[in-house]
Amino acid sequence: MAELSSILKQATGVIAARGEGVHLYDEDGRRYLDFTAGIGVTSTGHCHPRVVEAAQRQVATLIHAQYTTVMHRPLLDLVDRLSEVLPAGLDRMFFANSGSEGVEAALRLARQSTARPNVVVFHGGFHGRTVAAASMTTSGTKFRAGFSPIMGGVVIAPFPNPTHYGWSEEEATDFALRELDYLLQTVTTPAETAAFFVEPVLGEGGYVPANTRFLAGLRERADRHGILLVLDEVQTGWGRTGKFWGGDHFDARADILITAKGLASGFPLSAIAARADLMEKAWPGSQGGTYGANAVACAAAIATLDVILSEGLVQNSADRGAELRAALREVASQHKNITDVRGLGLMLGNEFRDANGDPDGATAAAAQQEAAKRGLLLLTCGAWGEVVRFIPALVVDSEQVKEAGAIWAEAV
Ligand code: PLP
Repeated sequence: MAELSSILKQATGVIAARGEGVHLYDEDGRRYLDFTAGIGVTSTGHCHPRVVEAAQRQVATLIHAQYTTVMHRPLLDLVDRLSEVLPAGLDRMFFANSGSEGVEAALRLARQSTARPNVVVFHGGFHGRTVAAASMTTSGTKFRAGFSPIMGGVVIAPFPNPTHYGWSEEEATDFALRELDYLLQTVTTPAETAAFFVEPVLGEGGYVPANTRFLAGLRERADRHGILLVLDEVQTGWGRTGKFWGGDHFDARADILITAKGLASGFPLSAIAARADLMEKAWPGSQGGTYGANAVACAAAIATLDVILSEGLVQNSADRGAELRAALREVASQHKNITDVRGLGLMLGNEFRDANGDPDGATAAAAQQEAAKRGLLLLTCGAWGEVVRFIPALVVDSEQVKEAGAIWAEAV
């Protein structure tokens, strides 16, 4: 009998039958508050009527037209609409299906346009599971172990992670920038370095925000050495952090931006946006795939953008995020083993540590399980699975935030 491979380790044991807004329903009709949102994907909520309507209309009109052969209207319209929200200067776009493919596209573009081989990534970064993206990932051994040789040309530099080092943000940032300069003179050289790849908030690595000085330091070094700054906004884009882009919190100016997840409310779609002069150096045919920029996914993305803008979901993310953070901090104040509540907007993590101060993935997983039993779906992240994260759909309301806080208080 055929069975699902155990490679698929499932966190909650729930079989989802139906979704509506911030709720999932299992096959017995039990309702769950879904504070995972498909790992930060269904930002407009499950099956938002306007997204459903746009997708259904597109399914009945044109499902697939391969974009290296013929263009289609939803893709062209999406490009127009994205210019409303993309940072100034990033006005050339390219589309794929997943975050990892977006990362690969950005990597190719960075190498092609600079003719330099190496990239710098940062400790705790997660960029995906394809071989190149996994080679750039340091948020946990499971993403890299066992399939060496991984891709070469990846230099790993410290991320300013105050809790990890037990330092202030200032100290962690000084250290990260100093080490970066050291690595740029030893392990690689500026002339060999194509790009810095960084997340505005470490996602899988434990929900650790970067900061303005660190990203300004990367920008300054990038400008000085002709290195590109690539912001991986796969998890932080589309209002997740309470601003449209995670980088907006830190005045970060990217040369290439990668987006996916919240882009199409659950349809597989990713995009990179880059400076025109960079894209012009990439040659036609060097990027792309059979399913890239699927017409239904593009139609869903346009509807997603409409919903996010017209329903004020970016502001809702900031406001509900502040309420959720307060509720989580209140719970943490009662529990010595929750040592940090951090993140931005509706991208919030609770870090668990044991009595020795070591990351405590076992207790985090137990709390996650207890929450699931009580009807609240959560995920963990962090190198040891020590962070329980809250990433509800951006349509979440204050009552649902309160309910989640109350369940969490019981679960921990
Ligand atoms: N980059 C970041 C920052 C992510 O969080 C993820 C996924 O979680 C990826 C890339 C990879 O995206 P995907 O899983 O769609 O390949």
